[in-house]
Amino acid sequence: MSGHLMGVYNRAPLEVDRGRGARLWATDGTEYLDCVQGISTNGLGHAHPVLIEAVKEQAEKLWHVSNIFKIPGQEELADRLTESSFADVVFFTNSGTEAVECALKTARKYHAANGQPERIDIYGFDGAFHGRTYGAINAAANPSYTEGFGPKMQGFHQLKWGDHEALKAAIAEPNCAAIIVEPVQGEGGCRAMPDVCLRGLRELCDQHGVLIIFDEVQCGMGRSGKLWAHEWAGMAPDIMAVAKALGGGFPIGACLATTEAAKGMTVGAHGSTFGGNPLAMAVGLAAFNAINSDAILGNVNEIAGYLKQQLHGLKERFPDVIEDVRGKGLLIGLKLVPNNREFMGWARDEQHLLIAGGGDNCVRMLPPLNLTLDEAREAIEKLERTCESARSKAKAAA
Ligand code: PMP
Repeated sequence: MSGHLMGVYNRAPLEVDRGRGARLWATDGTEYLDCVQGISTNGLGHAHPVLIEAVKEQAEKLWHVSNIFKIPGQEELADRLTESSFADVVFFTNSGTEAVECALKTARKYHAANGQPERIDIYGFDGAFHGRTYGAINAAANPSYTEGFGPKMQGFHQLKWGDHEALKAAIAEPNCAAIIVEPVQGEGGCRAMPDVCLRGLRELCDQHGVLIIFDEVQCGMGRSGKLWAHEWAGMAPDIMAVAKALGGGFPIGACLATTEAAKGMTVGAHGSTFGGNPLAMAVGLAAFNAINSDAILGNVNEIAGYLKQQLHGLKERFPDVIEDVRGKGLLIGLKLVPNNREFMGWARDEQHLLIAGGGDNCVRMLPPLNLTLDEAREAIEKLERTCESARSKAKAAA
């Protein structure tokens, strides 16, 4: 391993070599069942043939061209995204955090275009994660992401998840520009905002001219069992950030908005060198078309139903290990009694099962959306053995 990488990651001792579907192999040949998938990114698993084909075909034609020209694939993918959502317009980025930046800028610019440039206040929630750029860390305002990075940016505020009175008061503030929320929190520990709250949020924001920004970077693109997680609530935001599975592992993100919400985003208001480049668009189109299908969304619901039922069974049998089962679709969180980092290590080293960590002492399962029932059974067996291991370790330590 190189010693020249900036030390911002606490990396697992696993040198990854190659992957296929739900499987990942280390350089020493060990095979893992991958229920992390680049943290919800490889929606179709590793090395999906449809995506490989799309990359190959486009790579031979054209890799990159500036956004000062019409870029092949951009309008087509924007058509797919708008046909399948509340949105009318799209801006393409290279990552989730850039999609969030564009969303925040779009919201403020909307009010400026309405003659209210002072209306800049954006409210996020505790436990949120929106990325690592300045706007994103300020919107989530988790001290571990903001400390040491200079003064807090003006106009960003935080609400406590579930504090409806504070939320109501914030929306009624004259300078409230937007509320930013993950319909299902990912990094925060798989907390889903109840559908009734999302509908209430829509009603209140409409009353006060406040915009709703959804961050569906992690919970969107089929992960919840519907294409967009907010569809479960039967409502829609004004602006939405997406990324991760949109590129099936290729760096791509997008900010979606209604024509009205994007009214301030006129020529020169925003831009990107790489965002929406031809390679990204080709892979994005292939990934989008594959995921936005009855086959994949049906599979997510079927497999998620099986996993949830089995995980609740494990919780009953191992109350000393699993405290809670949460999440939506194949964004599944287990709140643990033992330390989540240690548990992840046991799953990896003893069972060759890869799971992700999360806030509130959770571990997350983010398998590919095309996980088979056999693979789901295998994941449960591996988790069960990890629970047994956790129990015997706790006994030995007592
Ligand atoms: N928003 C959410 C909800 C996320 O889960 C993430 C990444 N974990 C981001 C934004 C940031 O995405 P990226 O790392 O691609 O910038």
